[in-house]
Amino acid sequence: MKTCNNCLRSNPDDFNHCRYCGADIRYAEPVKRPFWKRVPAWVLVLLMVGGLIGIWFLLVGSFLAITTIEGVASMVLLILGAIGFGVVPLRAPDGDNNVFRAIGLAFFALMGASLDQTGNTLYNKPVEYFLCPAGTGLDREEIISNPLPGTTYVTQDFTCWDKSTGKPVMTLNPFKILGIRFVEYFILGYILLGLRFVFWRIKNNS
Ligand SMILES: [Zn+2]
Repeated sequence: MKTCNNCLRSNPDDFNHCRYCGADIRYAEPVKRPFWKRVPAWVLVLLMVGGLIGIWFLLVGSFLAITTIEGVASMVLLILGAIGFGVVPLRAPDGDNNVFRAIGLAFFALMGASLDQTGNTLYNKPVEYFLCPAGTGLDREEIISNPLPGTTYVTQDFTCWDKSTGKPVMTLNPFKILGIRFVEYFILGYILLGLRFVFWRIKNNS
């Protein structure tokens, strides 16, 4: 096939004149076929199957990560929240509702806390700092209880341990931990919104 220089439509290679507009196409360049038309069909099938397998692994992998690796669920929800509450993609900062956005983001990210109660170092250090008495460190254990036959509850027990004696000092109230996490998420959300504003300014000044 070659393309008519006049009307840009395709004509068979052996045509001398465009079948649409009649222009001289003897010296027209042969059409460069798009990539997906040049590769053999089996390569396309292979790519498609590979892609599907890749997506499947990604889904299963992220599900496993959410349920098993500490802090992943909070992180995933924080990222989703950042997209949902307009931190990313970079949109024009619109007025002074950043406080409400940050609160919304914090509430959203807090849902991650119910999925991954264990948290991670980033989330648990402030809890340790604010709630554990001096000289103790935060650690947690899973409490597996069977309140009724056939039911199993796994809850997290956040306990401050004495660093020198290795004995438990106090077990923390989970609502206080959620409260501290909420404040953390709020601050984090506010920082993200602030960064967006800064990036927006830089982008528009350059
Ligand atoms: Zn033509």
